Amino acid sequence: MRLPHHPEAIESLRAPTEQEPWRVLISACLFGWKVAVDGTTYGLDQARPPWLDSPLVRLIPFCPEDDQLGTPRSMPDLHGGDGFEVLAGSAKVLGPDGIDLTEKIIAGAEAMARLALEHQVDFALLTDRSGTCGSQVISLGCRHEEPVQYKKGVGVAAARLLQDGVHMVSQRDFLTLERLRAKLERGYQPDETSLDHHDHPWVREHLA
Ligand code: SF4
Repeated sequence: MRLPHHPEAIESLRAPTEQEPWRVLISACLFGWKVAVDGTTYGLDQARPPWLDSPLVRLIPFCPEDDQLGTPRSMPDLHGGDGFEVLAGSAKVLGPDGIDLTEKIIAGAEAMARLALEHQVDFALLTDRSGTCGSQVISLGCRHEEPVQYKKGVGVAAARLLQDGVHMVSQRDFLTLERLRAKLERGYQPDETSLDHHDHPWVREHLA
């Protein structure tokens, strides 16, 4: 379940303790592993909310692309549909050279889903705008070709996790992250004026 679209699910999350911290599956680039296509973190480690570095949280990093394709690698992009359509066989993941990476990306998504199940994660924090980890916004077609065609939707790993009922949030879902922090830290008042990614004015105006 995508928590920004189902805020009531935040209430049903269990209360973490130091003995039983929240187990949070996290995109490895957000965690700080240099697993982006160019061998960096894309600077995404700076986008991880600092309050997650709490004794009440155990982060479980994983990169489905690095798992199957290694790093550095060429950019895998969605063609013809979102992550659910890739899993259903009606869309593909291609590299910029046209090489079909669909099977590899699905295998990485399956490995991520196994990890989520093994650790019985409470939710996942995923990097948005990735054709693999995106949970709110993705792109269709090769991202080396301008203009990049963004749309609302989920990437392949996010879709696979959703099939298993894993709750998720992206690093751009600021309102949901505020509410999660309030669930974690007794007395914390969430900033209810924050916006989740799908409510960002640019996303509302430009993306279908
Ligand atoms: S596949 Fe996911 S974890 Fe790996 S670099 Fe892309 S967004 Fe980060």
